[in-house]
Amino acid sequence: MQERSVAVIAPAKLNLSLDVVGTLPGGYHALDMVMQAIDLHESLLLRRSQELTVRMPGSFVPINPKNTAVKAALAFFDYTGLLAGVDILIRKRVPVRAGMAGGSADAAGVLVGLDALYGAKLSMSELCAIGAGIGADVPFALMGGTCRVQGKGDLMRPLPPCPDCRFVIVMPSIGVSTPAAFARYDEVGTPAHPDCAAQEQAIRAGDLNALCTAAGNALEHCSGAKETAHIRALLDEAGALTSLMTGSGAAVFGVFAKEEQAEQAAAALREHYRQVFVARPDRGGARLAPARYQNYPAGR
Ligand code: ATP
Repeated sequence: MQERSVAVIAPAKLNLSLDVVGTLPGGYHALDMVMQAIDLHESLLLRRSQELTVRMPGSFVPINPKNTAVKAALAFFDYTGLLAGVDILIRKRVPVRAGMAGGSADAAGVLVGLDALYGAKLSMSELCAIGAGIGADVPFALMGGTCRVQGKGDLMRPLPPCPDCRFVIVMPSIGVSTPAAFARYDEVGTPAHPDCAAQEQAIRAGDLNALCTAAGNALEHCSGAKETAHIRALLDEAGALTSLMTGSGAAVFGVFAKEEQAEQAAAALREHYRQVFVARPDRGGARLAPARYQNYPAGR
Protein backbone atom coordinates (compact mmCIF):
# COMPACT_ATOMS: atom_id res chain seq x y z
CA MET A 1 0.00 0.00 0.00
CA GLN A 2 1.27 3.49 -0.74
CA GLU A 3 1.88 5.70 2.31
CA ARG A 4 -0.16 8.82 3.10
CA SER A 5 2.89 10.52 4.60
CA VAL A 6 6.66 10.06 4.75
CA ALA A 7 9.46 11.50 6.89
CA VAL A 8 12.80 12.24 5.21
CA ILE A 9 16.20 13.41 6.39
CA ALA A 10 18.50 15.37 4.07
CA PRO A 11 22.13 15.95 5.16
CA ALA A 12 24.03 19.20 4.73
CA LYS A 13 27.52 19.15 3.18
CA LEU A 14 30.95 20.56 3.82
CA ASN A 15 33.64 21.16 1.21
CA LEU A 16 36.77 19.37 2.37
CA SER A 17 38.36 21.20 -0.57
CA LEU A 18 37.18 23.61 -3.28
CA ASP A 19 39.26 24.78 -6.22
CA VAL A 20 38.28 26.93 -9.21
CA VAL A 21 40.12 25.47 -12.21
CA GLY A 22 38.76 27.41 -15.18
CA THR A 23 35.68 28.67 -16.93
CA LEU A 24 33.01 26.77 -18.83
CA PRO A 25 30.70 27.85 -21.67
CA GLY A 26 27.81 29.94 -20.37
CA GLY A 27 29.99 31.75 -17.84
CA TYR A 28 30.07 28.89 -15.34
CA HIS A 29 33.17 28.27 -13.23
CA ALA A 30 34.86 24.89 -13.59
CA LEU A 31 35.23 23.52 -10.07
CA ASP A 32 37.18 20.71 -8.47
CA MET A 33 35.95 19.77 -5.00
CA VAL A 34 35.74 17.06 -2.40
CA MET A 35 32.30 17.18 -0.79
CA GLN A 36 31.32 15.47 2.43
CA ALA A 37 27.79 14.85 3.74
CA ILE A 38 27.40 15.42 7.48
CA ASP A 39 24.91 14.32 10.10
CA LEU A 40 23.54 17.86 10.51
CA HIS A 41 20.40 17.48 8.43
CA GLU A 42 17.07 18.95 7.42
CA SER A 43 13.98 17.03 8.56
CA LEU A 44 11.03 16.89 6.17
CA LEU A 45 7.50 15.53 6.47
CA LEU A 46 5.50 15.10 3.27
CA ARG A 47 1.78 14.33 3.22
CA ARG A 48 -0.43 13.62 0.24
CA SER A 49 -2.65 16.56 -0.64
CA GLN A 50 -4.67 18.00 -3.51
CA GLU A 51 -2.57 21.17 -3.38
CA LEU A 52 1.09 22.15 -3.06
CA THR A 53 1.95 23.75 0.28
CA VAL A 54 5.38 24.24 1.87
CA ARG A 55 5.97 25.35 5.46
CA MET A 56 9.29 26.08 7.16
CA PRO A 57 8.31 27.17 10.67
CA GLY A 58 10.80 29.55 12.26
CA SER A 59 12.79 30.12 9.06
CA PHE A 60 13.07 33.48 7.32
CA VAL A 61 13.50 31.81 3.90
CA PRO A 62 10.54 32.92 1.73
CA ILE A 63 8.10 30.29 0.43
CA ASN A 64 7.74 31.33 -3.21
CA PRO A 65 8.43 29.83 -6.66
CA LYS A 66 12.20 30.36 -6.08
CA ASN A 67 12.18 28.18 -2.96
CA THR A 68 14.09 25.00 -3.76
CA ALA A 69 11.46 22.80 -2.02
CA VAL A 70 8.71 24.30 -4.19
CA LYS A 71 10.87 23.95 -7.31
CA ALA A 72 11.62 20.29 -6.51
CA ALA A 73 7.94 19.42 -6.02
CA LEU A 74 6.96 21.12 -9.29
CA ALA A 75 9.83 19.41 -11.16
CA PHE A 76 8.81 16.00 -9.75
CA PHE A 77 5.17 16.35 -10.80
CA ASP A 78 6.25 17.68 -14.20
CA TYR A 79 8.61 14.72 -14.77
CA THR A 80 6.22 12.01 -13.59
CA GLY A 81 3.06 13.57 -15.04
CA LEU A 82 1.25 12.86 -11.75
CA LEU A 83 -1.76 15.10 -11.19
CA ALA A 84 -1.33 15.37 -7.44
CA GLY A 85 -0.14 17.66 -4.67
CA VAL A 86 1.76 17.50 -1.41
CA ASP A 87 1.91 19.23 1.95
CA ILE A 88 5.59 19.68 2.93
CA LEU A 89 6.75 20.61 6.43
CA ILE A 90 10.48 21.33 6.76
CA ARG A 91 12.31 21.70 10.02
CA LYS A 92 15.33 23.71 8.90
CA ARG A 93 18.41 22.99 10.96
CA VAL A 94 21.07 23.85 8.37
CA PRO A 95 22.11 27.52 8.44
CA VAL A 96 21.18 29.58 5.36
CA ARG A 97 23.81 31.26 3.10
CA ALA A 98 26.37 29.08 4.83
CA GLY A 99 27.89 27.13 1.91
CA MET A 100 26.36 24.00 3.42
CA ALA A 101 23.76 23.45 0.70
CA GLY A 102 20.72 23.52 2.99
CA GLY A 103 18.49 24.64 0.12
CA SER A 104 19.82 21.82 -2.07
CA ALA A 105 19.21 19.35 0.78
CA ASP A 106 15.58 20.53 0.96
CA ALA A 107 15.18 19.93 -2.80
CA ALA A 108 16.79 16.48 -2.55
CA GLY A 109 14.59 15.61 0.44
CA VAL A 110 11.43 16.62 -1.43
CA LEU A 111 12.40 14.49 -4.45
CA VAL A 112 13.14 11.42 -2.30
CA GLY A 113 9.97 11.95 -0.25
CA LEU A 114 7.68 12.39 -3.25
CA ASP A 115 9.20 9.36 -4.94
CA ALA A 116 8.28 7.25 -1.89
CA LEU A 117 4.92 8.94 -1.25
CA TYR A 118 3.67 8.29 -4.77
CA GLY A 119 5.53 5.01 -5.41
CA ALA A 120 7.23 6.47 -8.49
CA LYS A 121 10.37 4.33 -8.07
CA LEU A 122 12.61 6.74 -9.99
CA SER A 123 16.27 5.69 -10.30
CA MET A 124 19.08 7.68 -8.65
CA SER A 125 20.13 8.94 -12.09
CA GLU A 126 16.58 10.16 -12.83
CA LEU A 127 16.41 11.91 -9.45
CA CYS A 128 19.86 13.47 -10.08
CA ALA A 129 18.80 14.67 -13.55
CA ILE A 130 15.69 16.34 -12.08
CA GLY A 131 17.79 17.72 -9.19
CA ALA A 132 20.46 19.19 -11.50
CA GLY A 133 17.75 21.40 -13.03
CA ILE A 134 17.08 22.89 -9.59
CA GLY A 135 20.64 23.53 -8.42
CA ALA A 136 24.22 22.36 -8.96
CA ASP A 137 24.49 20.85 -5.46
CA VAL A 138 21.24 18.86 -5.57
CA PRO A 139 22.74 15.71 -7.17
CA PHE A 140 25.32 15.57 -4.38
CA ALA A 141 22.59 16.12 -1.78
CA LEU A 142 20.89 13.03 -3.24
CA MET A 143 24.06 10.90 -3.41
CA GLY A 144 25.68 12.07 -0.17
CA GLY A 145 28.66 10.33 1.42
CA THR A 146 32.05 11.48 0.18
CA CYS A 147 32.48 12.51 -3.48
CA ARG A 148 35.00 14.18 -5.76
CA VAL A 149 32.89 16.70 -7.66
CA GLN A 150 34.01 18.47 -10.84
CA GLY A 151 32.63 20.50 -13.75
CA LYS A 152 29.85 22.88 -12.68
CA GLY A 153 29.38 20.60 -9.71
CA ASP A 154 27.59 18.02 -11.83
CA LEU A 155 30.36 15.45 -12.40
CA MET A 156 30.43 13.27 -9.31
CA ARG A 157 32.71 10.40 -8.39
CA PRO A 158 31.80 8.56 -5.16
CA LEU A 159 34.81 7.95 -2.89
CA PRO A 160 35.22 5.58 0.05
CA PRO A 161 33.96 7.06 3.35
CA CYS A 162 36.26 9.74 4.74
CA PRO A 163 38.24 8.72 7.85
CA ASP A 164 36.30 9.02 11.11
CA CYS A 165 36.54 12.54 12.54
CA ARG A 166 34.44 15.37 13.95
CA PHE A 167 33.71 18.74 12.38
CA VAL A 168 33.16 21.85 14.47
CA ILE A 169 31.15 24.23 12.30
CA VAL A 170 30.74 27.92 13.06
CA MET A 171 28.19 30.09 11.26
CA PRO A 172 28.70 33.84 11.72
CA SER A 173 25.66 36.09 11.92
CA ILE A 174 26.01 37.33 8.31
CA GLY A 175 25.76 34.85 5.41
CA VAL A 176 27.20 34.99 1.87
CA SER A 177 25.41 35.14 -1.49
CA THR A 178 26.99 32.50 -3.76
CA PRO A 179 26.66 34.56 -7.02
CA ALA A 180 28.24 37.58 -5.27
CA ALA A 181 31.19 35.44 -4.11
CA PHE A 182 31.83 34.18 -7.67
CA ALA A 183 31.51 37.73 -9.04
CA ARG A 184 34.23 38.86 -6.59
CA TYR A 185 36.34 35.85 -7.58
CA ASP A 186 36.15 37.03 -11.21
CA GLU A 187 37.49 40.42 -10.12
CA VAL A 188 40.26 39.42 -7.74
CA GLY A 189 41.09 35.74 -8.41
CA THR A 190 42.69 33.62 -5.71
CA PRO A 191 46.10 32.67 -4.35
CA ALA A 192 44.67 29.39 -2.94
CA HIS A 193 44.59 26.19 -4.97
CA PRO A 194 44.00 23.15 -2.77
CA ASP A 195 45.22 19.78 -4.02
CA CYS A 196 41.93 17.90 -4.55
CA ALA A 197 43.70 14.93 -6.19
CA ALA A 198 45.97 14.53 -3.15
CA GLN A 199 42.93 14.78 -0.90
CA GLU A 200 41.17 12.05 -2.87
CA GLN A 201 44.25 9.85 -2.41
CA ALA A 202 44.30 10.62 1.32
CA ILE A 203 40.66 9.54 1.62
CA ARG A 204 41.35 6.35 -0.32
CA ALA A 205 44.27 5.68 2.07
CA GLY A 206 42.17 6.50 5.17
CA ASP A 207 44.76 9.15 6.16
CA LEU A 208 43.09 11.99 8.11
CA ASN A 209 46.30 14.03 8.48
CA ALA A 210 46.98 13.96 4.72
CA LEU A 211 43.32 14.82 4.06
CA CYS A 212 43.76 17.91 6.24
CA THR A 213 47.09 18.89 4.63
CA ALA A 214 45.40 18.95 1.21
CA ALA A 215 42.33 20.90 2.40
CA GLY A 216 41.63 24.45 1.22
CA ASN A 217 39.09 26.73 -0.41
CA ALA A 218 39.82 28.96 -3.41
CA LEU A 219 36.83 31.19 -2.57
CA GLU A 220 37.96 31.98 0.95
CA HIS A 221 39.73 35.23 0.04
CA CYS A 222 36.87 36.62 -2.03
CA SER A 223 33.74 35.43 -0.21
CA GLY A 224 33.43 38.81 1.49
CA ALA A 225 32.72 37.05 4.81
CA LYS A 226 34.34 39.24 7.44
CA GLU A 227 34.74 36.67 10.21
CA THR A 228 36.52 33.84 8.39
CA ALA A 229 40.06 34.58 9.61
CA HIS A 230 38.91 35.15 13.19
CA ILE A 231 36.92 31.89 13.32
CA ARG A 232 39.81 29.97 11.77
CA ALA A 233 42.24 31.38 14.34
CA LEU A 234 39.91 30.30 17.18
CA LEU A 235 39.49 26.80 15.72
CA ASP A 236 43.25 26.42 15.20
CA GLU A 237 43.89 27.61 18.75
CA ALA A 238 41.37 25.00 19.96
CA GLY A 239 43.45 22.25 18.32
CA ALA A 240 41.86 21.73 14.89
CA LEU A 241 43.96 19.64 12.47
CA THR A 242 42.91 22.16 9.84
CA SER A 243 40.26 24.84 9.42
CA LEU A 244 38.62 26.28 6.31
CA MET A 245 35.52 27.89 4.88
CA THR A 246 32.93 25.65 3.20
CA GLY A 247 31.53 26.39 -0.28
CA SER A 248 31.21 30.12 -0.88
CA GLY A 249 30.84 30.68 2.88
CA ALA A 250 30.04 31.99 5.32
CA ALA A 251 30.33 28.90 7.58
CA VAL A 252 33.85 27.88 8.67
CA PHE A 253 34.78 24.51 10.12
CA GLY A 254 37.61 22.76 11.89
CA VAL A 255 38.51 19.07 11.62
CA PHE A 256 39.19 17.14 14.84
CA ALA A 257 40.32 13.55 15.25
CA LYS A 258 38.42 12.95 18.51
CA GLU A 259 34.91 13.75 19.70
CA GLU A 260 36.10 15.05 23.06
CA GLN A 261 38.47 17.59 21.46
CA ALA A 262 35.67 18.70 19.14
CA GLU A 263 33.22 19.22 22.02
CA GLN A 264 35.85 21.25 23.93
CA ALA A 265 36.54 23.37 20.86
CA ALA A 266 32.80 23.91 20.28
CA ALA A 267 32.41 25.09 23.88
CA ALA A 268 35.26 27.59 23.35
CA LEU A 269 33.73 28.84 20.08
CA ARG A 270 30.29 29.27 21.72
CA GLU A 271 31.86 32.02 23.86
CA HIS A 272 32.11 34.03 20.63
CA TYR A 273 29.43 32.72 18.23
CA ARG A 274 25.78 31.68 18.64
CA GLN A 275 25.61 29.07 15.86
CA VAL A 276 28.20 26.35 16.56
CA PHE A 277 27.60 22.70 15.60
CA VAL A 278 29.54 19.47 16.10
CA ALA A 279 28.93 17.03 13.24
CA ARG A 280 30.33 13.74 11.97
CA PRO A 281 30.66 12.45 8.40
CA ASP A 282 27.46 10.87 7.01
CA ARG A 283 27.76 8.01 4.53
CA GLY A 284 24.45 8.67 2.78
CA GLY A 285 22.38 11.37 1.14
CA ALA A 286 18.69 12.38 1.37
CA ARG A 287 16.73 9.32 2.51
CA LEU A 288 13.65 8.11 4.35
CA ALA A 289 13.94 8.71 8.09
CA PRO A 290 14.07 5.70 10.42
CA ALA A 291 10.69 3.98 10.98
CA ARG A 292 10.09 5.61 14.39
CA TYR A 293 9.81 9.04 12.70
CA GLN A 294 7.31 7.93 10.07
CA ASN A 295 4.08 8.80 11.98
CA TYR A 296 2.79 12.08 10.59
CA PRO A 297 0.57 13.65 13.27
CA ALA A 298 -3.08 13.78 12.12
CA GLY A 299 -4.44 17.22 11.30
CA ARG A 300 -1.07 19.01 10.87
P1 ATP B 1 25.27 26.35 -1.38
O1 ATP B 1 26.46 25.63 -0.88
O2 ATP B 1 24.31 25.48 -2.16
O3 ATP B 1 25.56 27.64 -2.04
P2 ATP B 1 24.24 27.94 0.77
O4 ATP B 1 24.25 27.49 2.18
O5 ATP B 1 25.22 28.98 0.38
O6 ATP B 1 24.41 26.62 -0.07
P3 ATP B 1 21.45 28.00 0.85
O7 ATP B 1 21.33 28.31 2.29
O8 ATP B 1 21.17 26.61 0.42
O9 ATP B 1 22.88 28.44 0.34
O10 ATP B 1 20.53 28.99 0.00
C1 ATP B 1 20.78 30.37 0.00
C2 ATP B 1 19.73 31.19 -0.76
O11 ATP B 1 18.77 30.39 -1.44
C3 ATP B 1 18.96 32.06 0.23
O12 ATP B 1 19.18 33.39 -0.15
C4 ATP B 1 17.50 31.66 0.11
O13 ATP B 1 16.62 32.77 0.04
C5 ATP B 1 17.42 30.83 -1.16
N1 ATP B 1 16.60 29.62 -0.92
C6 ATP B 1 15.61 29.16 -1.72
N2 ATP B 1 15.06 28.04 -1.21
C7 ATP B 1 15.71 27.77 -0.07
C8 ATP B 1 15.59 26.74 0.90
N3 ATP B 1 14.68 25.76 0.79
N4 ATP B 1 16.43 26.78 1.95
C9 ATP B 1 17.37 27.75 2.05
N5 ATP B 1 17.52 28.74 1.18
C10 ATP B 1 16.70 28.77 0.11
